Amino acid sequence: MTKPYEVNPAGELTIGGVTATELVQEFQTPLYVYDVSKIRQAMQGFIQVFEAANIDYVVSFASKAFATTAMYEVAAQEGIHLDVVSGGEISTALNANYPMAHVSFNGNNKSYAELELALDNGLGTIIVDNLYELHMISELAAARGIVQNILMRITPGVEAHTHEFIQTGQTDSKFGFDVNSGQAQTAYLEAQADANVNLLGVHAHIGSQIFDIVGFEAAAEKLVDIVHEWGFEPAVINTGGGFGIRYTDEDEPKPTSDFVTAIINKIQTKTAEYNMPMPAVWIEPGRSIVGPAGTSLYTIGSRKDVPGIRSYLAVDGGMGDNVRPAMYQSNYEAILATNPSAPTEQVVRVAGKYCESGDVLVWQQALPKTQPGDVLAVLATGAYGYSMASNYNRNPIPAVVFVENGVAKEVVARQTYADIIHLDRHYV
Ligand SMILES: *Cc1c(COP(=O)(O)O)cnc(C)c1O
Repeated sequence: MTKPYEVNPAGELTIGGVTATELVQEFQTPLYVYDVSKIRQAMQGFIQVFEAANIDYVVSFASKAFATTAMYEVAAQEGIHLDVVSGGEISTALNANYPMAHVSFNGNNKSYAELELALDNGLGTIIVDNLYELHMISELAAARGIVQNILMRITPGVEAHTHEFIQTGQTDSKFGFDVNSGQAQTAYLEAQADANVNLLGVHAHIGSQIFDIVGFEAAAEKLVDIVHEWGFEPAVINTGGGFGIRYTDEDEPKPTSDFVTAIINKIQTKTAEYNMPMPAVWIEPGRSIVGPAGTSLYTIGSRKDVPGIRSYLAVDGGMGDNVRPAMYQSNYEAILATNPSAPTEQVVRVAGKYCESGDVLVWQQALPKTQPGDVLAVLATGAYGYSMASNYNRNPIPAVVFVENGVAKEVVARQTYADIIHLDRHYV
């Protein structure tokens, strides 16, 4: 099996043509490193499937997976649209001079101020989650004399989990309009009657880190069934994101092109069956665009051996820069950056430096012999690592470095202690 990382002739980990040790010398640890060519390849991979299918489409990067100015700039270069979920992400898009007409806005509780920010900046499409929001958009659009493009997010009754999916009669979810109760149809009729909005179509997002294509097919099929039942011929069907990636050897995701092809085929077959025009297909991948492109670099510090139980190997980061293991029990693969293929001599739990027992980065990892000061690389951390980072324990958030063609560039500076306290105000 090919390794999910590259080494130089000396056998050292390299990222985008630069060795991990050089990156650490220049930028210190903990460090988020992205191989930008992998990001571009993932984006182009999605685009190629749609181009080959010869249909109208939008590939929108679900930017909550990794929202930074530099990332938005790369998305713009590659002709990838953006999905945002907050005023902060909208501001980041503005900072990146991102074309706002190519931005869509998701979320179950968008504030009035966030919607104002969206409409004032010509944000392309708002994915409406509830009637409260629809009414605010209508009012804001009317006040500005514009017609706002919207999609309606619905919960189609398909729930997907990592390795299985279940189709439920009613869906227990905080997101979107419920179909079975008739909520979705009521909202559809209201949106169609509202001259301040232009209802382009429907949206559903069934979950994340999904390996099973059947879940996506079921959702795509259900969306067409639903609009057909309403007598609605949508210009757009958006099936969301959620394509699973490889974190460890145990993950064997299908190529993302397989997922997209299956979604397109299902929508084509179903709309043909109902004699409906083929809509544009929009997707919102997040993790699959940035996850495999990211690597976290740490310096190994202390070690604790609990006889007969396990050994803990501690690094200088942890749940503040990658909360996923603590939050979802998710797993990663770690390698010794200077010599990833040296024979393994120990099995350890890689722990962080935060004051929580659950502060783990890798639950169980075989490694070569390690010394304090060695650089440990945790692979495939590009999605939901930096974007979920916190200042827990008042640790600074690490820098983010983009590497491409042998050139490394810091795109988010490392926080300093001054950054951490600068919003504090004295009380006494
Ligand atoms: C999180 C999310 C995505 C992206 O999910 P990934 O698993 O990162 O691909 C897409 N659309 C919506 C609405 C989301 O909430």
